[in-house]
Amino acid sequence: MPHSSGGGSHGGGFHGGSGGSGGGPSHRVGNTYFPGARRYVYYDRRRHIPRYYYTNYDVSTVNPVKTMITTLAITIPLLLLMVFAFVTADEPPSPIYDNCRYNSEIYDYADVIDNEREVLSAVNEFTAVSGIKVAIVTVNNETWYSDGWFSGSKSSQLEDYAYNLYVDMFGGDEYHWLIVYSEPTNPDSNFNDWHWEGMQGDDTDSVLTEAKADIFNKTFNDYLLKKDVGDAFADAFGYFSNVIMTVTEEELVESYLIYGLITAIIIGVILFEVVLNKNWKLSKASEFRANDKKIKCEYCSGEYVSGTVMKCPYCGAPVSLETEE
Ligand SMILES: [Zn+2]
Repeated sequence: MPHSSGGGSHGGGFHGGSGGSGGGPSHRVGNTYFPGARRYVYYDRRRHIPRYYYTNYDVSTVNPVKTMITTLAITIPLLLLMVFAFVTADEPPSPIYDNCRYNSEIYDYADVIDNEREVLSAVNEFTAVSGIKVAIVTVNNETWYSDGWFSGSKSSQLEDYAYNLYVDMFGGDEYHWLIVYSEPTNPDSNFNDWHWEGMQGDDTDSVLTEAKADIFNKTFNDYLLKKDVGDAFADAFGYFSNVIMTVTEEELVESYLIYGLITAIIIGVILFEVVLNKNWKLSKASEFRANDKKIKCEYCSGEYVSGTVMKCPYCGAPVSLETEE
């Protein structure tokens, strides 16, 4: 189904499109006690001291190989994705081709475009380079705006109107880009309360990307503030025809942000699995039971816990009988 390519208004500037996410933890590990935790001992062989971890699960089930495989399973596809993104980053898009012929059309119901030929030629030029079929419709605010408290904002009402108009005009054909411009039947000469909304078919997404649509939205909205409606349409499409099939700085920046994000995720996953996630150390840890005691080794003075080891974990001396506490 078609979706908004963005819109704007005299008072509120312009706006762009939308997105979503979710997740949750299960195993918990901490350095301090928490309800339901078991205590584990792990020996720091460099500093000759025991370290304690509290977990809510049995660490004897921890498998470092599994952790490593999980890490690789997450990072390898991300690395491949990044390589693919690098290779395709500065490739300009290819135009959209659809077998049904169509000439761009203007339906100036509000009678606000006085240079239709000029607008049509700018729009046709855009269609020729991009393959996106454009329809421009002008209406009056009274056509779609209802003032009830339940009716929603003007921008959401216009978006609904544009959506329904798209479906009425093109049905399931997703190759079109409909732009609805609206102003009051009798605009206030001090503040013409104009609004506009773009509605793009799903099959235009590969060319009319969010970054590209933003460029059009900003340009068109700026022109509407300075020029009459017809000139704003003609000049915005004139400019946009030169931009639509190029790789813009914004898109490059966007792809660098994506690389940065993927890199950060990869580093994060590795850090979490290998460094922060104590699974690696826990796989070597033993449970600290109620009657276990802290012991100081007579030979190396290292500290350890009785019952968790057969001999001193640092120097290998037999377990001392003398307890520290
Ligand atoms: Zn020792």
